[in-house]
Amino acid sequence: MKYNRILLKLSGESLMGDKNFGIDPSRLQQYADEIKKVKEMGVEIAIVIGGGNIFRGVQAEKSGIDRVQGDYMGMLATLINAMALQSALEQNGMYTRLMSGIKIESVCEPFIRRRAIRHLEKGRIVIFGAGIGNPYFTTDSTAALRAIEIEGDVVLKGTRVDGVYTADPEKDPTATKYEQITFSEVYEKNLNVMDMTAFTLCQENNLPIIVFDMNKTGNLSKLVLGEQIGTLITD
Ligand code: UDP
Repeated sequence: MKYNRILLKLSGESLMGDKNFGIDPSRLQQYADEIKKVKEMGVEIAIVIGGGNIFRGVQAEKSGIDRVQGDYMGMLATLINAMALQSALEQNGMYTRLMSGIKIESVCEPFIRRRAIRHLEKGRIVIFGAGIGNPYFTTDSTAALRAIEIEGDVVLKGTRVDGVYTADPEKDPTATKYEQITFSEVYEKNLNVMDMTAFTLCQENNLPIIVFDMNKTGNLSKLVLGEQIGTLITD
């Protein structure tokens, strides 16, 4: 196995499936199946999930809601997704713990780094909900920060695009995919991998990122085994 402890980042939007809002139960089931395969391989798994399918702070600002208030609403949206994912994983026989960046004691544990690591060592899948717990951050930054804190081997950013391209492949048909690229090349070419806070955290802490298509069955397991899937970003 190439990676023993992974941080899987899923966007909130990916949970919508073909819907325009909210959570598609079949997509949730699909992700639970994919995660179970790597769990059975013995990989330690931490997960950060976004909230864009329910609420985003930046959108809130446009509709007149205070930015900070909107960001907290966004964080709570990530927690809703995290709870849905936790339920799907448990229904599929996995052991999980949900840790939150904002204290919500009746629902989940607060994030405590040492405890998170212990959960992973015991084979529990740890989901980090409610982001970092601070406004003006994103779940990509949460993924980068938590991955560093738990000493993860890699951040696996699951998206609907199968890697990093020279241009947006959904708009430019001539765009080509990078199999591997360095952090500095991403900066120079101004490519969109993660927001800058998240990206810089990974670069400064030498934490590789892989951008890949999470919706393709088997991709997650292949990645963990070291197969060339998506785009690898390293030093
Ligand atoms: N958010 C935040 N601090 C964090 C993480 C998230 O304020 O540490 C808020 C922010 O408003 C963001 C929203 O939660 O817009 C949802 O997260 P994100 O947009 O990153 O989700 P994704 O795009 O991955 O679905």
